[in-house]
Amino acid sequence: MTLGTHVAFASVLYLGGATLFGYRPDLISWALAAVASLLPDIDLPPSKIGRLFWFLSVPLERRFGHRTLTHSLVAVVAVAVLAWPLTLLHPLYWGSVVGGYGSHLWLDMLNLRGIDLFWPSPIRLVTPGNRNWRIAVGSKAEMMLLSVLLVLTVALYPLSHLGFRDALQALLKSFDIAVEQYQRQIGTHWYDLELVASDNLTLARVTCRCPVVGLWKSGLVVLQDGKPRAVGKSQQNHHLLPITGRLIEGEPLAVQSVRVEMKGRTLRGLVSKVDQRRVYFINGEVQTGRIEPIANIDLYQPVAYSGQTMTLRYARASELGPWLDLVAAKGEVFVQFWLRPGEQPVYFDLGNDPPADPIPAELRRFL
Ligand SMILES: [Zn+2]
Repeated sequence: MTLGTHVAFASVLYLGGATLFGYRPDLISWALAAVASLLPDIDLPPSKIGRLFWFLSVPLERRFGHRTLTHSLVAVVAVAVLAWPLTLLHPLYWGSVVGGYGSHLWLDMLNLRGIDLFWPSPIRLVTPGNRNWRIAVGSKAEMMLLSVLLVLTVALYPLSHLGFRDALQALLKSFDIAVEQYQRQIGTHWYDLELVASDNLTLARVTCRCPVVGLWKSGLVVLQDGKPRAVGKSQQNHHLLPITGRLIEGEPLAVQSVRVEMKGRTLRGLVSKVDQRRVYFINGEVQTGRIEPIANIDLYQPVAYSGQTMTLRYARASELGPWLDLVAAKGEVFVQFWLRPGEQPVYFDLGNDPPADPIPAELRRFL
C-alpha cells in the first residue's frame, strides 16, 4: 500500500484504540504511530522511507526481498524491544510505535501478494483468501479504502478524546455513569452535573447545572442554588431523584486540606478564620455536651447532629448556624479549600492561643 493509506490506517487504529480503551490521544504518540506505520517498507528502495534510508533499503531488498523480514513477526518483536526505552517517557509512546508498525503488516496482507509474516518460513499470509477481493497497490480499490479510512479518522477524532463510554454517556445522560465517572476522577477537576431530577419532597421538576461537591450513598452531593443537596436513586438517602445526569468536566482542581483539632474550640472560632470568599468544605466529627435526638443519618445533611455527635459533610458557615457556638469536647475536622488553576494557596492558621470559649462544666467529664 502507499504511504497515505498506511498513515490513515494507523490513525484509525490509534484513534479507535483511544475510543475503546480510554487512553488520551496526543499528537506525539499519534505521530509515532504514523511514522512507525511506514517503517516496514524500509525494504523497498523506491518507497519514501526506503529513499530516505537508501543505505538500508538497497541491501535489505537485495538480500531478503520486499515484504519478508521487515514485514514479519520477527521484526515486530525487534521493534518492540528496540522501542522499549520509550516506556520511560510514556507507555503510550511504546504502544504507538509497536501498534503503528503492526498496522502496516495487517494492511499489507490485503495486498495481492500478501506478506511473509512468519519469515524465515516462506508461508505467505494474505487476507481475504479470494484474490479478487484483495487490493493492488495504487489501484482504484486502494483509493476507495483510503477515502473510507480518512472519513473514519475524522469521525473518530472527537470520539477518541471522549472515550467510548463517555461518548455514549453524552448521548445517554445516565446518572449512574455520571456517578461512576465522578468516582473515577474525584479530586482532579471541578465538575458540574447537568441534571434533570424530581424533588423528593415536593415532586417539582428540577433542571440545573449544579456544581458537584462530593459523593453520598451511591449518589452525588451538588450545590443547587448554592445549597448542598444529595442526588441519587434512594428516597431515604437523597433529596433529588435523577432522571438524566451528565457530568461536565471543568478546570483542574487542587485541594488544600487542613486538619483542625476541635477540642475546646467552637465552629464559630473555626469559620471566623476561613476566608469566606474562598471555596471550602468542612468534613469531620465533633462531640459536644449538648444532646439532641437521633437524626436521620441516612438522608444527606451538611450537618447531622445526633446524640452528642455532630457530623459535618461538605459543610460551610451558612449551614452551621444553630451549632456555631457549641464548644467541642473532642473531635477533628478537615477544611478542604478548593483552588482553581493559578489561585494562591490559602493561608490558614488558628493560632496557638487557647480557645477563647470557656469550657462548660458539663463538658469536663470528656476532657
Ligand atoms: Zn509494506
